[in-house]
Amino acid sequence: MVSGMDQRDEERAEVLLSKWMRRLRIQIPIRTERTSIWQVVGESGRAGCSLVGVVFDEQTGCIYHTRRLKEEDIVHELLHVAHPDWRESEVVNETNRLLSRAPQLNRLSLNPA
Ligand SMILES: [Zn+2]
Repeated sequence: MVSGMDQRDEERAEVLLSKWMRRLRIQIPIRTERTSIWQVVGESGRAGCSLVGVVFDEQTGCIYHTRRLKEEDIVHELLHVAHPDWRESEVVNETNRLLSRAPQLNRLSLNPA
């Protein structure tokens, strides 16, 4: 059963997802799936970690999330899809730049491959 609140969150995430998929020119379909916090095992092997992550191949992708998706999460995960060769720090910096939360100086720390 989905409560009204969850329904609104889902719709909001869908709107943000399609907006950023257009902006980042992502061609493959990406869906989102809420997953139980207890299905997630962290790097340390503890169950119950909070997680947002994307799994994708050439045909399709899915953003798994244990908590409500923020716009920052969506941009971040879509950047992984758009730029599979980028390192985590590059994705973080570009996410900040796109959301205009960080000074442009952040880009100077990028180390192009
Ligand atoms: Zn990441």
